[in-house]
Amino acid sequence: MLPLHLGSPMFIKSFVKTEFGFRPVSVEVALVPGVSQIQILGLADQLIKESSRRIISALRHQGFRVPPGKQVLVNLHPSDLRKSGQGLDLAIALGILLESEQIELQNFKTQEDYCYGSLSLKGEVIAPSDLQLLNYENFSRKVMSGQSDKSWRFTVEEVTELRSLNERSVKEPCPESFSCQETTFNEDISFEQPMARLLAMVALGEHPLLIAGYAGCGKTTLVENLATVLNPPAPKAFLEAKKCWMLSGRDLQTRPVVQPHHSATPAAMIGGGRPLKFGEISLAHGGALILDELLEFNPLVQSALREPMEKGVIYLSRTGARQMFPADTLVLATTNLCPCGHFQPGATYKCQCSSLRLRQYIEKLTGPFLDRFAIFHLYEKPKLDFKMTLKEIKDWVQSGKEFQKQIRGQEKVNQKLCVSELLDELDESITDTLIPYSKSHRRRQSLLRVARTLADLETSETIKQAHLEEAQRWTASDIYKLERFRMEDFAMR
Ligand SMILES: [Zn+2]
Repeated sequence: MLPLHLGSPMFIKSFVKTEFGFRPVSVEVALVPGVSQIQILGLADQLIKESSRRIISALRHQGFRVPPGKQVLVNLHPSDLRKSGQGLDLAIALGILLESEQIELQNFKTQEDYCYGSLSLKGEVIAPSDLQLLNYENFSRKVMSGQSDKSWRFTVEEVTELRSLNERSVKEPCPESFSCQETTFNEDISFEQPMARLLAMVALGEHPLLIAGYAGCGKTTLVENLATVLNPPAPKAFLEAKKCWMLSGRDLQTRPVVQPHHSATPAAMIGGGRPLKFGEISLAHGGALILDELLEFNPLVQSALREPMEKGVIYLSRTGARQMFPADTLVLATTNLCPCGHFQPGATYKCQCSSLRLRQYIEKLTGPFLDRFAIFHLYEKPKLDFKMTLKEIKDWVQSGKEFQKQIRGQEKVNQKLCVSELLDELDESITDTLIPYSKSHRRRQSLLRVARTLADLETSETIKQAHLEEAQRWTASDIYKLERFRMEDFAMR
């Protein structure tokens, strides 16, 4: 008996959808003797499997056919990945047409260019809505798809129906439509010192902030306004943020600011579930996460946020596989220090809470979590009658950013600088012994980072002694005050 000659299989490049965007796949099409039908192999979901009947109908309406006496085998690589997606129809149909020599394709390299489109029963090619996800991947090849009024960051060759696969119209990339627009802010609201200084410092350096104070002192207004005067995020971070928003069904035009309610569960904050889904911290990626009334959140939220606050990413596991989600955000938190909201260490007490309730409340703020905040500030009534409008603060922050870029040649924010980089920037007159003592490495890092921001706000190329002393007040003094209070004052109330 003569061996069967099956020919070399055809490969077309396409995409499938995963928990976090698109992944390239190879669609292998082979014709083997058998009943005329399409068999899809390689862990495809129901959505993809249904496409075989649609493709047969589309081919017929367009004057093509599945070759009689041949079975079409479609194998999706890599074979171990579960696959879903709306756009494999076009790749499979193209593979059949090329393999059975029913068409010749011009100016399209099947080894390099991609195909992503769904088909109507009559063979019209449609651009699937999830193709937009590809805008947020690092992708620069050509894609063949249906017509759409959307903007793309890559070249799309639009095709209307299967019989006109060689009459494609080229749509050039339009990267500018994906840039971050400016956030609107309340120009006229003003802040007294030292709050205005705190606002400028956090906005420029992007240092995580926890501000504690009695109810009605204005801490929520402060952080909400702070989030509106941040400098634009890096383009890469903004694209990742747009992708997260798109995956949750929303569009993002400005730097994201996310303010979850304190009833949010740890899973809602960092992500989880089945299918795996990211949380609020990923929606805040590249922007700010406001945690108003931090101690009212589930205590597990604090431990859940520690890793992403440190690393800027979050790893979630599902059936043995680990998926990384972006989670690089500026955390701005506020809290009362007692359940009634009136307690303030060292101030005249209007607080009605019992010592036990007060202790239980404050002890909800764990040391390791507090350590993640570069700045911890106990609100005090301002003593100076000097105010700055938010417009003035924003201008100050922008000129600080210009100084960082133009004079110091630094692109990243100060919160991302490491200790060795910062030590190099100390004024010559400062020796190690002049750097205030810190209990933890993180506190020392925060001290130097905040001092660098204070120097930038004053357009000073080096970090001076005065910057270190002020940074010590913002990064450590109030933590010591709180710790002292925890040890001594409870008994005295
Ligand atoms: Zn109270």
